[in-house]
Amino acid sequence: TGSKPDISRVKSAELYEKSKTYFPGGVNSPVRAFKSVYGTPLFIEKGDGCYIWDADGNQFIDFCGSWGPLILGHNNTKIREKVTEVMQNGMSFGAPTALENELAELIIKNNRFVEKIRFTSSGTEAVMSAIRLARGFTGRDKILKFEGCYHGHTDALLVKAGSGLVTFGETSSAGVPKSFAEETIVIPLNDKVAIEQAFAQFKDQIAAVIIEGIPANNGLIIQDEDYIHFLRKICTENNSLLIFDEVITGFRVGFEGAAAHYGVKPDIVTYGKIIGGGLPVGMYGASAEIMSNISPDGGVYQAGTLSGNPVAMAAGIATLTELNKSGFYKDLNNKTQDFVASIQRFATARNYKFKVFTVGSIFWFAFTDKDKIQSADDIDAGSMEKFKIMHRELLNRGIYLGPSGYEVGFVSAAHTKVELEKAKRAIFEALDLVFRS
Ligand code: PMP
Repeated sequence: TGSKPDISRVKSAELYEKSKTYFPGGVNSPVRAFKSVYGTPLFIEKGDGCYIWDADGNQFIDFCGSWGPLILGHNNTKIREKVTEVMQNGMSFGAPTALENELAELIIKNNRFVEKIRFTSSGTEAVMSAIRLARGFTGRDKILKFEGCYHGHTDALLVKAGSGLVTFGETSSAGVPKSFAEETIVIPLNDKVAIEQAFAQFKDQIAAVIIEGIPANNGLIIQDEDYIHFLRKICTENNSLLIFDEVITGFRVGFEGAAAHYGVKPDIVTYGKIIGGGLPVGMYGASAEIMSNISPDGGVYQAGTLSGNPVAMAAGIATLTELNKSGFYKDLNNKTQDFVASIQRFATARNYKFKVFTVGSIFWFAFTDKDKIQSADDIDAGSMEKFKIMHRELLNRGIYLGPSGYEVGFVSAAHTKVELEKAKRAIFEALDLVFRS
């Protein structure tokens, strides 16, 4: 089999011409602009189950899932019905509703890691608030983050490593004051010496260490369990808080996320994506003691006009009710693991420099021969050219992956054996083409 002809993008291209006149880059979030893959962005018209359709009527099996929230697939009947029911009574009050209690109860009663929570409207807001809480609680200013972890676009975290092992960060976005970046220390993942050195150098100054439960925004950079336990220990010894940013991993790798996966108790946890079932919800939570620092109980201010929005709560309730059913994660994770294992077997049998890294229902296609990728430095930027070819070949075969080789893919409960078989065949063909060219 050779390359397939490119799908039609006439309507999408027309919409893109127009959107470029309205939005920078034609989009409302940069990765959507297809800058690191072939062609113009696809404008999506509808989704159902594991399928999406673009404006030209092309149909795809979707492995992006709106970047993670859609663990039940698109247009899930239970979510849609619950949201529709709640909407009959109005869409926002800016006053408490019973729905907030209902979603909170689902989360807190089934999660060992949070006693009290606060809902926000995005992951970014959740993380920004968690950082403020850690600073307010500890009375310290510095934050330690890892190269290769993404935590949303809050100023304090749009920071990359400077030169040297342990350095103040440098801003990774224009518009972030240098003085803000200087409060953020950036070190590599999977490096015990670097973190020991950071704690020695900034003794009693580090409010919190923040890490993605399982780093999944710059490839899937799976850490050893031992390293995560080490982080817990060194934070405790230094009276610094450990924040798990579980915006992707929360309710994805299991109901209790990466914290349960590793058996490590973070001090503050952030969630997003899945808890909103496709509507805008974020959340942070901690022990009752730590959360008592949040206004109006405590002095750390945080608020939101649409926080705890009833329609968004309804989507979250419908979603988490499904996820809380016995066997949900076992089925989803087994299905995903079978899928990725056969892709890996295919690539290995043909000696392709290709590895699928995976946890639960998350997977990442890496063009590498390394058995482990545990820090951002382990990723070969040049290999992204291969992803670009793969992405194009897969679109042309009706398979939609997020438009960047650094992004992970997600399998949803709506993907059945039929679609996973079809996807596998397409992936095999695409791999043959990537490695033949
Ligand atoms: N933290 C992590 C780990 C994320 O993956 C993301 C989004 N991809 C965010 C924070 C920011 O969330 P949002 O895009 O909802 O602001």
